[in-house]
Amino acid sequence: MLYKKLFILSVIFLSLAGKSSADEILDLYKHLHSNPELSWQEFKTSNLLADKMEDLGFTVTRNFAKTGVVSIYKNGKGPVLMIRADMDALPVEEKTNLEYSSKIKMLNNDKTEVSVMHACGHDIHMAVAVGAAKELINLKSKWSGTLMVIFQPAEEVGQGSARMLEEGLFNKFPRPDFNLALHVGSFPAGKVTYTKGYAMANVDMADITIFGVGGHGAYPHRTKDPIVLASKIILSLQTIVSREIDPLNPAVVTVGSIHGGSKHNIIPDEVKLQLTMRSYTDEVRGEIISKIKRIIEGEAISLGIPENKMPTLKLRDQYTPALYNTPDFVDQVVGYIEKSIGKENIFESSAVMGGEDFGRYGRVEPKIPTFLFWLGASEIEIWEKSIRGEIDLPGIHSPFFAPDPVPTLSTGIKVMTAAAIGVFNDNK
Ligand SMILES: [Zn+2]
Repeated sequence: MLYKKLFILSVIFLSLAGKSSADEILDLYKHLHSNPELSWQEFKTSNLLADKMEDLGFTVTRNFAKTGVVSIYKNGKGPVLMIRADMDALPVEEKTNLEYSSKIKMLNNDKTEVSVMHACGHDIHMAVAVGAAKELINLKSKWSGTLMVIFQPAEEVGQGSARMLEEGLFNKFPRPDFNLALHVGSFPAGKVTYTKGYAMANVDMADITIFGVGGHGAYPHRTKDPIVLASKIILSLQTIVSREIDPLNPAVVTVGSIHGGSKHNIIPDEVKLQLTMRSYTDEVRGEIISKIKRIIEGEAISLGIPENKMPTLKLRDQYTPALYNTPDFVDQVVGYIEKSIGKENIFESSAVMGGEDFGRYGRVEPKIPTFLFWLGASEIEIWEKSIRGEIDLPGIHSPFFAPDPVPTLSTGIKVMTAAAIGVFNDNK
């Protein structure tokens, strides 16, 4: 009888105590997932996160670099560690059928209405950052130093980190001694992977305009045909990576779009190409750009294009610099992660040619040790099916991308907390 009473009392107590910390973070994740916002429009997201960080006791600066949030927690002497989470979502229509699917539509840059989805998992990154911050405050007697958690706008357009730095992130606030971040990936939840050294690529976008002398399709000898020139240029561009760059230095040149002409029998005046170029080192990046210039001009000259109609190459905005994971810092942090989730759950993986603007925080002078690792987000059964070839596993940016939230969040929070405590304690 006594046991029964005690049992009832403890049930009442538990329900009065409210939600567990893990449930709160899961709720936050689902809320963020259902309410995604496009790059530079992360107003509600950043307000909510700023509130959460204030509740935890952080000193919070809102609307930094438009929608960014900088939160600082000083906990005695020790290093400054920055943890960064990105906030923006993508113009993708969600097709996961989850009960917390996004139904949000927003106006894109060009004022067209688009569906919006957290298809890159930035909702997981934000929820993990809040969860780890909470854990670190709970465990504040176990470390000392300054914890800086930032929520960055506009990662998807490669601009957010640049603007945060331009607006004085490392002057107006304590300058970090170390930078840490994670990104979700399509491999089993509960696992972590990482790459030492160059991990993600320099990302450049370029627009090439090819000019010709238009005319009637039946009298090509009276024209200079930009369509033929565009074709020659596209084929010659393929020789940059295959014939000119050292094969041991990764590089990509992709022509993603070609537009020109209006009718069967008209030779147009102009053709436009859109390219993306990828590399790791600054040298290879420079080589690719200068070789593209040489090829477009050389091919134009060979076709007899007039001197005042040479093709033009325009590089788009700021490029996204390569992510370089500082090897010594990687070794240090991997050690802490191994201790927290076991050696069997963390693996070294190959570098990729995708881009992430987190690398910019490490490239400042003097450089700051920087590390972004990958956090598994796939449901294990779904991942196993994909290994057996029964299904295609949706990757990031897919409308079907659906992280398994409970193990993904708990592993993310666990490893980020362990990494932070390790960094604080071993770098006094
Ligand atoms: Zn992303």
